[in-house]
Amino acid sequence: MPRTIRIRDTLSGGLRELEPRDDARVAIYACGPTVYGPLHVGNARPYVVFSLLKRYLEHEGYEATFVVNVTDVNDKIYAAARKAGKPSEELAQEMTRRYEEDTARLGLGRPDSEPKASETIGQIVDLIQALIDRGHAYATGGDVYFRVASFPGYGKLSNRALEEMDQGEDDVPRSAAVKESPHDFALWKARKPDEDTWWPAPWGEGRPGWHIECSAMAEAILGLDFEIHGGGSDLVFPHHENEIAQTEAGRGRPLARIWMHNGMLQLDREKMSKSIGNITGLSEAIDAVGPEVLKMYFVGAHYRSPMPYNEAELDQARSRVERIRDLVRRLDRNGAEAPEVAQVADRFFDELADDFNTPAALAELFPWVARAHSRLDAGESFGPGRLPEMLHVLGLESLLEEDAPPDEAALRLLEEREAARRERDFTTADARRDELAARGWQVRDTPDGPRLVRGA
Ligand SMILES: [Zn+2]
Repeated sequence: MPRTIRIRDTLSGGLRELEPRDDARVAIYACGPTVYGPLHVGNARPYVVFSLLKRYLEHEGYEATFVVNVTDVNDKIYAAARKAGKPSEELAQEMTRRYEEDTARLGLGRPDSEPKASETIGQIVDLIQALIDRGHAYATGGDVYFRVASFPGYGKLSNRALEEMDQGEDDVPRSAAVKESPHDFALWKARKPDEDTWWPAPWGEGRPGWHIECSAMAEAILGLDFEIHGGGSDLVFPHHENEIAQTEAGRGRPLARIWMHNGMLQLDREKMSKSIGNITGLSEAIDAVGPEVLKMYFVGAHYRSPMPYNEAELDQARSRVERIRDLVRRLDRNGAEAPEVAQVADRFFDELADDFNTPAALAELFPWVARAHSRLDAGESFGPGRLPEMLHVLGLESLLEEDAPPDEAALRLLEEREAARRERDFTTADARRDELAARGWQVRDTPDGPRLVRGA
């Protein structure tokens, strides 16, 4: 019997059963980064959550397609490019490359499709034209705006009263002056003298607004009424509210069935002082703790919960990673299946079927890890059984790999640590040990002398 998978749907406000459009195919579209600067560690949360959700759906027998867009046309990019003194297209390309490099380091593979707004202009223009033709949008002075009053369902995602809905466009006095209503939002913005990226369109040269980009990219790749639209909870309003309005008004059909939102990272400035928690760039965070610890950190909280980001949380993730690494080292790869692991795996995957509850799944896994260690202590011997299946869905399959031999730089640091210890210079010895930890190596003192093993 396949599991029934339920996901909390922001639109209906309740748990909704996953019902694929056809057969066993499921599509996930998650809003990706606006490429105006390097990725923040908080931007990695949706990337990790939805990548792992795809793995879980595949585990359950679905054929899953995962799309993450790149917003490479946006006000923030023009502003950052002006500040950096380079063309906006160049800055966007540079930051797209960095985004790809940084997320690749997470070790989760790439999404199946990564559309760029700049490569979807034809579909965007087509959707805007459909909205104008149906009376849901109007061109004025080279801009085009969505007429919010024409769409009765407006506000159904964020459940806000109209007067509480600020599109965040009023800092542009020009748009405030030409809009029919302050609630209307931009679909197309006329080219401004200091903007160096623009396209021709029936209503004048310019470039798309942010919200219409996602409606068009998602439809272009996945069609309409696809299964799961995801993103951070900060996107519920106005971004996703506007995506829903544009697609339903322009096409007469819903964009997606389930709207799934992850909570934000909470940076605790006080606790963060002089800790690794003050590292907020994704690439720097991976340098500091390694990709496994970061992934373990993310799955340690329910995806919907706001999540504190600080040293203590990362430490807990690190010790969890180490407990599994240690266990893997002690298992006999070709041994008989570990006791209980099959039942533990069943319960683990049951928990994920209930709104992708990763902390509840971990609460099945870790007590078993402790029991397995005790059995090994008592002299039993067994193999990993279904442990790899669980680790794969957590994005932690690399913990199963044999330790790669240490590189030359690591061996040199180890030598320096030993030399310092012989001279009783423990400050230097500790500093070398910390440098090794930063590179993902732990020093183990064995009867044959010190040895490097993987682990920060
Ligand atoms: Zn989006």
